[in-house]
Amino acid sequence: MNLQIRNLRKTYPNGVKALSGIDLEVKKGMFGLLGPNGAGKSTLMRTIATLQLPDEGSISFQGIDVLKEPLALKALLGYLPQDFGVYPNMSAEALLDMFALLKGVSSRKERRLVIGKVLELTNLTEVRKKHVSGYSGGMKQRFGIAQLLLNNPSLIIVDEPTAGLDPAERSRFLNVLRDIGIENTVLFSTHLVADVEELCHDLAIINSGTVLLHDTPTNILQGLAGKIFSKAIEKEDLPFFHERFSILSSSYNQDNSLQIRAYLKEESEGFERAQPNLEDAYFIALSQESSTPINRLT
Ligand code: ADP
Repeated sequence: MNLQIRNLRKTYPNGVKALSGIDLEVKKGMFGLLGPNGAGKSTLMRTIATLQLPDEGSISFQGIDVLKEPLALKALLGYLPQDFGVYPNMSAEALLDMFALLKGVSSRKERRLVIGKVLELTNLTEVRKKHVSGYSGGMKQRFGIAQLLLNNPSLIIVDEPTAGLDPAERSRFLNVLRDIGIENTVLFSTHLVADVEELCHDLAIINSGTVLLHDTPTNILQGLAGKIFSKAIEKEDLPFFHERFSILSSSYNQDNSLQIRAYLKEESEGFERAQPNLEDAYFIALSQESSTPINRLT
């Protein structure tokens, strides 16, 4: 197994239980870590990246005991934190050259080669002479990926990279990640279901430091087949439906009526069967949240 996380626990000194016994197995490819703000995603990612220690538990990656051999893991790791990037007035190319030197690539020729490659992979070749401080949010995020690729990592961790990106930048960024995820293990956190839907072969939904669901999008959607229903209602009737049905979400129609989505074990009068999506699974997982983790939707 590629990345294996066992019984990871962390309580911060202020008493906040950020990780309450996380178990996860992550294979090669794009893995989505989905959860609301405060779920524990960053804590988990920083712990895997050996930037902080858990109170309990173990992590192994390709046979490395990560907590015991952090330097061995670091040699294989590329990590993009949530907040990064105050840049001096330097071009992307010059900055990457400096980072590559710091990462120990001493040969100038080798640096030129690897920098050319990472600029190409992140679609930044054309703007390589521009100052990174003047880059747009999406370009900065892609530059973050370029710098983490310099040492050719096999485990890549990116913490909420799409937050604040406009739709075009987000799409360009996800395409870069998609390419990188073919050959590597990429752990990617987000609170946007759509990010995971577009990108990931495997996903975990976490909240309150617990894994609520871990499965492939295909299995999750198959598990919900025939159980998601939809209905147009008057806005005033929403409390009535909330009392009687598991309402997952609602959105307004053009005529100002509400379209509700419900999770029903069987057909109910007035409801129409709807195509399940990952957002349904996300809301079901969060609403079923309990101290016992579930591995499959029931
Ligand atoms: P996410 O990345 O999913 O938003 P975090 O891992 O950042 O979640 O946070 C999980 C919980 O731990 C939150 O309640 C947060 O407020 C708390 N937390 C995170 N970092 C610290 C810290 N350094 N000290 C105390 N509490 C923290």
